[in-house]
Amino acid sequence: MSLYFHLPFCESLCWYCGCNTIITRRRGSAAEYLDDLVREVRLVSSRLDRTRPVAQIHLGGGTPTFFPPDQLRRLGAVIRENFTVASDCEFGVEIDPRRLTPDHIAALREIGANRASLGVQDTDPRVQLAIHRLQPHRLNQKAVEWLSLAGFGSINFDLIYGLPLQTPASFARTINDVLELQPDRLSVFSYAHVPWIRPAQKILEDRHQLPDAEAKLAMFAVAHEKLTAAGYLDIGLDHFARPDDELAIAQREGTLHRNFQGYSTRGGASLYAFGLSSISSTEDTYRQNFKTLAEWRAALDAGRLPLEKGLHLTFEDRRRRTIIMRLMCERRLDYAALSKMIGVNFTDRYAAEIASLADLEADGLVVRTRSGLEVTRAGGPLLRVVAMRFDEHLATALHRHSKTI
Ligand code: SF4
Repeated sequence: MSLYFHLPFCESLCWYCGCNTIITRRRGSAAEYLDDLVREVRLVSSRLDRTRPVAQIHLGGGTPTFFPPDQLRRLGAVIRENFTVASDCEFGVEIDPRRLTPDHIAALREIGANRASLGVQDTDPRVQLAIHRLQPHRLNQKAVEWLSLAGFGSINFDLIYGLPLQTPASFARTINDVLELQPDRLSVFSYAHVPWIRPAQKILEDRHQLPDAEAKLAMFAVAHEKLTAAGYLDIGLDHFARPDDELAIAQREGTLHRNFQGYSTRGGASLYAFGLSSISSTEDTYRQNFKTLAEWRAALDAGRLPLEKGLHLTFEDRRRRTIIMRLMCERRLDYAALSKMIGVNFTDRYAAEIASLADLEADGLVVRTRSGLEVTRAGGPLLRVVAMRFDEHLATALHRHSKTI
């Protein structure tokens, strides 16, 4: 099993934020939320086989370190009381270097956390001012120093391109800054502008012109060039890892997976997610919790699972999920191997989808052969566009999503 805990509180709002957050400075919110989280964990775990080993845990947010160290210890205890955590469990936590203390790190290590993902985004103070997230680079340096000393085995940096005032040259300086800190992995995300879902993002477009698709692609190209020159391998859509990192090894061996938190080496696990708005997934279902604190809490008060919606996957959904997963992870499809995996003849069944790639091939983004298809280097940042051709539900969902670049 894989477990995810959504810890939604933040002290201030970053205007680009796409997460489900609650902005508050009231520390008491953390303890109250944890009381509810405990109720949800008990409700769910009582329905599961608790002896199934937990291979992966992730604390996301929000800002997990909004929770005082003692509350993090309490969460760790609740996890171990209700589940069987594997001895080699990959336990990751999202870290905001602005809200981190050595005491938080000590508590996280005590409860078993061994991987940290630092929200850095951009080191340019002008960009930081424009996005309402002032984060002097010395805080990133300090966080890496503390986490390394505490024995965190893997440190990831999250960067975002496509923010106001960013240029390929300024983003190159950000990459230089973070390379000095030698992270094990980097996630270089394209900024997702969805002001109809996150109204605060409107501030960004009102005050500045956002970089266009061409500028964004140039920023990603700069990042790609600098990171690969520094010895990192590009993984899937937006991750980079050292060649000896588990992620790079999984990509080589064809065992890489992608879930709601990004790329993962622990595929095949059912994901049980806790906290408001979190999404769980199993072999044949997706389920999402209520997105507001009031609704989530009311369901728990009534002794019900706090589910807002769910989806039961058909066999066709599952086949297409496998196809899209392999594309996103390996950037290629081997038709014979895939036919075995999904139990139907791939080229017969998906002939129309394969034919629909002609325009992308003409643009040099994919190459099709008799035995498979491969996404080219130029097509890498547009991997989503290729995968979308295999998404049967796209037409009904398109208007709700951000642009692919
Ligand atoms: S710290 Fe992260 S979750 Fe909180 S507002 Fe900023 S981007 Fe959103």
